[in-house]
Amino acid sequence: MLLQNWWYTTLLGVDDPIQPPLATDIKADVVVVGAGMAGLSAALRLAESGHDIVLIDRNICGGSTTGKSAGFLTPDSELELSQILRRFGIEGARNLWQVPVKGIELITATVQKYGITCDLQTQDSLFVANDRSGVDDVHEEVVARKQLGYPVTAYTAAEVAGVLGSTRYHAGVRYSGTYGIDALRYCQGVKRVLLGRGVHIFESTEAHAIDDHTVRTHGGSVTAERIVVCADTPSRHFCHYADDVSPAETYLTISAPLTDRDVKALFPGDPLQCWDSDLIYSYWRLTGDRRILLGGGSMLSTYVRNAETSPRVAGHVVRKFRRKFPALANVEFLQYWPGLIDTTRDLFPTIIRDAQAPWVQFVLGCVGLPWAAFCGDFVGRHALDTEEQTDHVFFQYFRPDRRFLMPLWSEHVLGKPIVFALNNAWAKYYQVDVPARQRA
Ligand SMILES: Cc1cc2nc3c(=O)[nH]c(=O)nc-3n(C[C@H](O)[C@H](O)[C@H](O)COP(=O)(O)OP(=O)(O)OC[C@H]3O[C@@H](n4cnc5c(N)ncnc54)[C@H](O)[C@@H]3O)c2cc1C
Repeated sequence: MLLQNWWYTTLLGVDDPIQPPLATDIKADVVVVGAGMAGLSAALRLAESGHDIVLIDRNICGGSTTGKSAGFLTPDSELELSQILRRFGIEGARNLWQVPVKGIELITATVQKYGITCDLQTQDSLFVANDRSGVDDVHEEVVARKQLGYPVTAYTAAEVAGVLGSTRYHAGVRYSGTYGIDALRYCQGVKRVLLGRGVHIFESTEAHAIDDHTVRTHGGSVTAERIVVCADTPSRHFCHYADDVSPAETYLTISAPLTDRDVKALFPGDPLQCWDSDLIYSYWRLTGDRRILLGGGSMLSTYVRNAETSPRVAGHVVRKFRRKFPALANVEFLQYWPGLIDTTRDLFPTIIRDAQAPWVQFVLGCVGLPWAAFCGDFVGRHALDTEEQTDHVFFQYFRPDRRFLMPLWSEHVLGKPIVFALNNAWAKYYQVDVPARQRA
């Protein structure tokens, strides 16, 4: 397998020239730092409301986490509905579930409105149980979806085998309203839209300091009424809240195109986007040209040995897949690539309106494209507060001083990877923020 991000090859022949780096001092209404899913969504919202916007990214638009992703557009990017329901009760879960659901709506509406070519696939989601405890997880998900009135189909092991070509899963839960995209081409498509709306975009431009109303880069600066930062892996001198996020690593592999027979062997019915019930789960779906996009990781690589590029972990993910789908044992996986996802301690994003500098907003730790799209759009809408916004409640959910299992200072004793791994597991499996007696 070749170490190479497949999505870059999908840009070949696409006529979206790289925007030259910033080389002078300029002014704008709003400067957006970071052009991943969150930053592009913020810039698009602001541009659509007629403001003078500058967007800068140290890479190309979408060139970091977003453009490495598997492009699953499903609400449960990392946290299942049942886990959010346990933490926040019905009202809170309903509020919070709106975040990724609206994120998906924003992305698909943008694709349609602007005719962006990004391999948008309508694919139901299927969460499958690897073992007994996975069956419990699947069951909890079914119950949670029913409790909130969301449509759902529950599968027994035999029924799973009817929609997924494997007899090795013990149960499954399926639902619709989910999609797959080539997120890098989506970002490049949004870049084209923004340029068409007069947004000034500077790629290969790294912000290294915020100084009052000015964002400084190596080649120039942008002075703006408002500053929106949607940057990943922020450094401490650039962002006071850099310690609030930590990267988790996941790997993707892509296969050669499947034959008709292989497609039927994998999905006897419609193609689905799937993931399993392991803590470090595997996930797979088909691209429009019928390649298997397969992702996963290991405990060690996810939290501890970030930025490992050897094929070891990807090879382990492929072997696990082949054990589950023996009929596809001969399918060749051609390329693999790792990627880092910034996470907060409880896997929810953090949105900050800096108390000392209220004109600066930060979006950090968006785990999942839909969450990032919503948060970017949200800060874009709130940046200038030109119209009445009704969803201030999300500033509360995503405030940096919300309740976590372990405080940041414990990193000095235990180390950041351990503190984040324990906090993540606690948030997923045990945390309760709204006790049962307060939920009525
Ligand atoms: C391998 C992999 C598979 C994934 N699969 C999925 C999936 O299938 N579905 C899903 O929902 N999520 C998936 N994710 C997670 C998803 O990609 C992220 O949650 C999402 O892309 C985060 O978007 P973002 O805009 O917050 O961050 P990013 O995409 O990282 O954007 C931040 C941007 O800021 C820029 N930047 C950083 N610092 C600076 C600076 N100082 N100056 C200027 N620019 C700066 C970066 O270059 C980058 O473009 C996956 C992630 C990976 C790595």
